[in-house]
Amino acid sequence: MGAELVGVEKQHSVAFDVNSLRRDFPALDQKVSGRPLVYFDNAASAQTPLCVLEAMERFYREDRSNVHRGVHTLSQRATAAYEAVRPKIQRFLGAEREQEIVFTRGTTDAINLVAATYGRKNLGPGDEVLITTMEHHSNIVPWQMVCKERGAKLVVAPINDAGELEMDRFRELCGERTKIVALAHVSNALGTVNPVEEITRIAHDAGAVVLLDGAQAAAHLEVDVSEIGCDFYAFSGHKVFGPTGVGALYGRYALLEAMPPYQGGGDMIRRVTFEETTYADPPMRFEAGTPNIAAVIGLGAALDYLRGIGVAAAAAYEAELLSYGTQRLRDIEGLRLIGTAREKVSVLSFVMEGAHAHDIGTILDDQGIAVRAGHHCTQPLMDRFGVPATARASLAFYNTRQEIDRLVEGLEMVRSLFG
Ligand code: PMP
Repeated sequence: MGAELVGVEKQHSVAFDVNSLRRDFPALDQKVSGRPLVYFDNAASAQTPLCVLEAMERFYREDRSNVHRGVHTLSQRATAAYEAVRPKIQRFLGAEREQEIVFTRGTTDAINLVAATYGRKNLGPGDEVLITTMEHHSNIVPWQMVCKERGAKLVVAPINDAGELEMDRFRELCGERTKIVALAHVSNALGTVNPVEEITRIAHDAGAVVLLDGAQAAAHLEVDVSEIGCDFYAFSGHKVFGPTGVGALYGRYALLEAMPPYQGGGDMIRRVTFEETTYADPPMRFEAGTPNIAAVIGLGAALDYLRGIGVAAAAAYEAELLSYGTQRLRDIEGLRLIGTAREKVSVLSFVMEGAHAHDIGTILDDQGIAVRAGHHCTQPLMDRFGVPATARASLAFYNTRQEIDRLVEGLEMVRSLFG
């Protein structure tokens, strides 16, 4: 085993030097429970490279002031640094115009924005919003809320036992009543990559708009919204190695232009009188109030960092790691993988005979291994698989085969205690 590991790490050493990349992430270099930390909770939140921390500190040390408001030098510098991130996100997502990028607090905020504006305006009695069984609660609850308010219906497309969308059923369910199709690009609990181009074509043929929840995709796949053809795309900064509390929404400009504001306040107006207010054009119309300026700047640095590594190179490395992890976990007696889609990234979700997911999480933590245990904000999906919870190891490009071996060792310990 040892020799093989060295060989594989070597294969990547020219194109993808994981050991040197790890040094960019100070949090990875620590001991937990007396052992070197193995961080396998990247789907919940990835770690932050030094360049992101430095970009945010630079803002606070040198340019700290408000954006869009001041004629003074600090405010101009802050505004320039902040607005420079919009075209970075435009490029990252393959959007046509930077005005199609709205800064948000994250994916949840972005989906709520679309539900509360586009949804509220365009849904009526008898209309349908089509989602899937594998959605995160943040791509269920906002639609449920707006459907209830507008007398519309939430329709759910089923998945098969491998955790793949049943495309025949999806085609049948996507009809003339469907006004919005909202689904995960990648499932956080299964790792399934959905065929989003095909889904977008089907939805557009039915006259529906498509929102993709890209929270789990953005760090693991090259995203191109122009190629996919989707109408909205949401992602979070903290899952792409940026700070928490920030993210972005891509929206096709013609749609954003026709949407009412999300929240009212400063920065989103053209002119205010007590009788009447007119609103700014997108994206400012959807960005009321002082934003999380440092976090936006940090997100820009994270996207630069990712571009430097190359999302495609990181994805290729991760794919090999996922395949290795899948093989090794399959060999553990009594372990059942939840989510075995053919198209899959990053996630190893599983249950073990006799052990609750939380016990697995606690025993692994005792060995310095961080995994997620729970329903992963996908309770309907857990119901579909007939389990209350799973343990989930989720990978990033800084993880290694040796760390997977540590996980397997830890799971053998769980088996010896509970098996
Ligand atoms: N959708 C998916 C698929 C996710 O994994 C997450 C985060 N777990 C979210 C939405 C919500 O993201 P955030 O909490 O950053 O708003």
